[in-house]
Amino acid sequence: FAAAAEKDVVVVGGGPGGYVAAIKAAQLGLSVACVEGRGSLGGTCLNVGCIPSKALLNSSHMYMEAKQHFGSYGIKVGDLSYDFAAVQAQKDGAVAGLTKGIEGLFKKNKVEYVKGWGKLVSPHEVEVAGLDGSSSTRLRAKNILLATGSEVTPLPGVPIDEEKIVSSTGALALKQVPGEMVVIGGGYIGLEMGSVYQRLGAKVTVVEFLDNIVPSMDGEVRRTFMRTLEKQGLKFKMGTKVTKGEVVGGRVHLTLEPAKGGAAEKMECDVCLVSIGRRPYSKGLGLEALGIKTDNRGRVIVDDHFRTNVPSVYAIGDLVPGPMLAHKAEEDGVAAVEIMAGKHGHVNYATVPSICYTHPEVASVGLTEEEAKAKGHEVKTGKFSFMANSRARAVGDTDGMVKIVADKKTDKLLGMTIMGPNAGEMIHEGVLALEYGASAEDIARTCHGHPTLSEAVKEAALATAFGKPIHM
Ligand code: FAD
Repeated sequence: FAAAAEKDVVVVGGGPGGYVAAIKAAQLGLSVACVEGRGSLGGTCLNVGCIPSKALLNSSHMYMEAKQHFGSYGIKVGDLSYDFAAVQAQKDGAVAGLTKGIEGLFKKNKVEYVKGWGKLVSPHEVEVAGLDGSSSTRLRAKNILLATGSEVTPLPGVPIDEEKIVSSTGALALKQVPGEMVVIGGGYIGLEMGSVYQRLGAKVTVVEFLDNIVPSMDGEVRRTFMRTLEKQGLKFKMGTKVTKGEVVGGRVHLTLEPAKGGAAEKMECDVCLVSIGRRPYSKGLGLEALGIKTDNRGRVIVDDHFRTNVPSVYAIGDLVPGPMLAHKAEEDGVAAVEIMAGKHGHVNYATVPSICYTHPEVASVGLTEEEAKAKGHEVKTGKFSFMANSRARAVGDTDGMVKIVADKKTDKLLGMTIMGPNAGEMIHEGVLALEYGASAEDIARTCHGHPTLSEAVKEAALATAFGKPIHM
């Protein structure tokens, strides 16, 4: 082994949870190393998740705008086409720039970047197998932070080859747009990737086991959302399970069955995306040897200070229970190292937003109407459609609505869902309002710039607090 290096913190995993924790730890004056095995920083999010998917969503959206909407803005285009290799290259460039950027941030903040796969060998030691396969280093630390993230959940009977039967990773790197695509799983990732290829010309069918897409979404918004996606050309096959998938002569042959039982049917496509979820990734991490407890889904169990049952070992992000989102992992990471530094790190999970980056986007924070009722709240709701919002009308992008859920007696905001253009940006008004314990009336009485899409939030708050918006 190379000489042992003593640190205050060794972070295992350089995704949004791990790299942000490492930078914050250094900013708090702790000595820190971050171990990452994939050869680049940024984790799932930057390399094969949030960022490349948003690059492809943007390119395909712009293509769609030019194809379907430019005419209505009075803009004429000649023959329109796309160069898919160039689309992919733009995405790769964005990813490369951002991952290199984190290396720069590590240098600036004096975080030691250790390339290789880390394994716990004692409560204070991580052994790192170098990427060259021959060298290894042992790092010693007062505290160890596990941030090894998640991996794609496989679907039994449908083996992923990343060319024809792909996970999201393969779907982000296709060399050509498939003629026909089947997406297994109607969650955020499936809908986003399905939208990308549908916009670029693929015939896309989403097969979903449940009777609803994105079950966590407000039911009323979800129904409108699904209709909107159908209008765009996505097809849905609900309440259906895929029991088998195989590649035959370059085509994917799938066997489907009704989820509740019944006769099997066959379906064929050029590319099948398996996007039924993600599971924690702790392969080779040495959890068992140290007796670190996990739950029945393989997630590392932590207390509300991110501590595992081994007091010097902490865990965050996709590896632990909670929403599997990059910004949640980042918040976990910051709070965990604050706690290690003797401060009062804390994450308010009630205000973590989730966003589906289709067009229109759907963003939500807090409780949906259904969740609020199930928790025993007496609720009132207020809605406002983007059809009645002047900015949305001016730019010709009117699909969607804002829906606010508040406590009937106190008017306290409980949740907000926005389906509409830029919903992912606008939702932060709801996030802040919820964080500050605002009432619907607080939002309704807050002056909003005109003409903006955000005025729809104020109008929905007026509808919630006073029963009537102004413009509808
Ligand atoms: P990860 O990002 O998974 O990072 C963990 C890192 O640890 C990896 O780089 C891995 O190589 C490394 N590692 C694992 N084991 C070891 C080891 N033993 N030694 C060294 N290194 C190790 N979330 C959003 O919030 N917004 C989105 O728009 C969004 N879009 C997504 C789109 C797709 C297609 C996918 C797949 C995911 C998306 N997500 C999105 C989810 C998001 O990527 C994750 O929630 C987030 O990356 C979790 O961060 P993390 O730091 O916990 O783990």
